[in-house]
Amino acid sequence: MEKYDVIVIGGGLSGVAAAIAAAREGCRVLIIEKGNAFGGAAVNSLVNPFMPNSTKVNGKIIEFSQGIFAFIWDKLKERQAMNELSFLEEELKFLLNEMLCKANVDILFHAYLFAVDKDGRKIKSITVATKSGVICFEADYFIDATGDAMVAYLSGYPTLTGREKDNLCQPMTLCFRLGNVDVHRFFASKPRLDMEYKKALERGELINPRENILVFLTPIDNVLHFNTTRVVKLDPTNAKDITKAEIIARRQVFEIYEFMKKHADGLENSFLSATASEIGVRESRKIIGEYVLTQDDCKNCVKFADAIAACNYDIDIHNPEGSGTSHYYFPEGEFYTIPYRSLIPKDADNLLVAGRCISSDHEAQASYRIMPTVCTIGEAAGTAISLAVKNKTIVKNINVKELQKRLKENGAFIGL
Ligand SMILES: Cc1cc2nc3c(=O)[nH]c(=O)nc-3n(C[C@H](O)[C@H](O)[C@H](O)COP(=O)(O)OP(=O)(O)OC[C@H]3O[C@@H](n4cnc5c(N)ncnc54)[C@H](O)[C@@H]3O)c2cc1C
Repeated sequence: MEKYDVIVIGGGLSGVAAAIAAAREGCRVLIIEKGNAFGGAAVNSLVNPFMPNSTKVNGKIIEFSQGIFAFIWDKLKERQAMNELSFLEEELKFLLNEMLCKANVDILFHAYLFAVDKDGRKIKSITVATKSGVICFEADYFIDATGDAMVAYLSGYPTLTGREKDNLCQPMTLCFRLGNVDVHRFFASKPRLDMEYKKALERGELINPRENILVFLTPIDNVLHFNTTRVVKLDPTNAKDITKAEIIARRQVFEIYEFMKKHADGLENSFLSATASEIGVRESRKIIGEYVLTQDDCKNCVKFADAIAACNYDIDIHNPEGSGTSHYYFPEGEFYTIPYRSLIPKDADNLLVAGRCISSDHEAQASYRIMPTVCTIGEAAGTAISLAVKNKTIVKNINVKELQKRLKENGAFIGL
C-alpha cells in the first residue's frame, strides 16, 4: 500500500490550496478528486464569480483572501481569463493542474472516496473506487476538503447537516449558461422580465420558488451565467434526494429559459450552451469541531487568538424553505476571523477539515463559504498539517503561533 505524509481528499479550491501549502513545506502529498479537474464547485457546478472578500479602510482596499488565492487571481488576470470577478473555468482548471504539478503533489483523478479505516483517534487509510478497482492509501495525516465532510463522516466523527433546528440546508442550484445573447437588450428588458416573473410566481405558475432571476455577466461578451434554479428541503448528502434535486433543477432550467424567451429581449438567437455537470450544493454536512464558529462571532467581528483566515462576505442565506434571500452586511472596515480550532474535528488526531464544511453554525457558513475564503482556509489547513508532520504531533498540538507566522510569511492575511 502506498504511503504519504498527507492525503487531501477533494480538489475544490480548499483542497488544492491545502495540497500546495503542505507540499511547499516539504510534505509528500497526494490529492484525490472524483472528477477530472480541480476547482470543485467552480468547475463541477459552474459556480461563478468569485465573491468579494475585502473592505476599505481610509479609502484603501484591503483584500482578505491573499496567499494562494491572490496567486490564482493574478494568473487568471494575466491570462485575460477574468472580467472583474468572473472567470473562465477552463483556464482555472488548467492553472490548478499546473500549480499542483509544479508543487510536486501526486494527483489521482476519477477516484471516489468511500471508506476510511480508523484506529482509535487516528485514520490509518482511506479507500477509493477507481478505474483500476478499489485502492487503499495510507498516510500519517489527512485533510477532508470534500465539501460534504465525507472523510469525517466516514470516520465516525460527529457532523451536523444544515441548520441546527431542522437540518434543512441552503437550497441547491443547477447553474446554466446561455450563449449568443444580445446582452445589452437582455438587461434593458430585465425590469419587465422581473415584473412578469414575480406575477407568474404569485399565480403559482412556476415550479422554481426563487424570488427573482439571478444572472451574471461572464468574460465572454454574448454569454450569460444564471444562478437561479432553487431546490429546497432535500438533503444533498442523501443519494435519492440529490438525484431528485438534479431532475427538479433541470426542469427549472427549461422552465426559466422558456419563460425568459417569452418575456425578455435579446434571446432570439440564444441557446442553452451549458448546464453544470453537478447541481451546486451550498451547504451540507459540517463537522463539529474543537470550536463551532457562530453568527454572533461573525457579527461581533471577533478576532480569535488562533485566527487562520479573515472574511467579511455578507451572511447570505438563500431560504432553505422556499422563496427569499436574506443578507447581513458587515460594516465597512470590519471583518471576522476563522479560528484554527474550527478545522479540527472533535477527537481527531490526524485529520483536518478545510472548505465549506468546517465547524460552524448555519449562518456563519453562509458567509465564509465563498470561494476566496475557502481557498484561504485550505492554505491554512495544509500549512498546519505540515507542522504536525514535522513535529510528529496530533493536529490539536501544533504550534499555532508558528502556523500564523508561516501563513503571514507566505502572504496570507489572517487579521492579526
Ligand atoms: C449554486 C452555488 C452558487 C454559489 N455562488 C458563489 C459565488 O457566486 N461566488 C463564490 O465565491 N462562491 C459561491 N458559492 C460557494 C462556493 O462555490 C463553495 O462554497 C466553495 O466552492 C466550496 O469549496 P470547497 O473546496 O469547500 O468544496 P468544493 O468546491 O465542493 O470541492 C469539493 C471537491 O471534493 C470532491 N469530492 C467530494 N466528495 C468526494 C469523494 N467522496 N471522493 C473524491 N472527491 C470528492 C468534489 O468533486 C469537489 O471537487 C456558491 C455555491 C453554490 C453551490
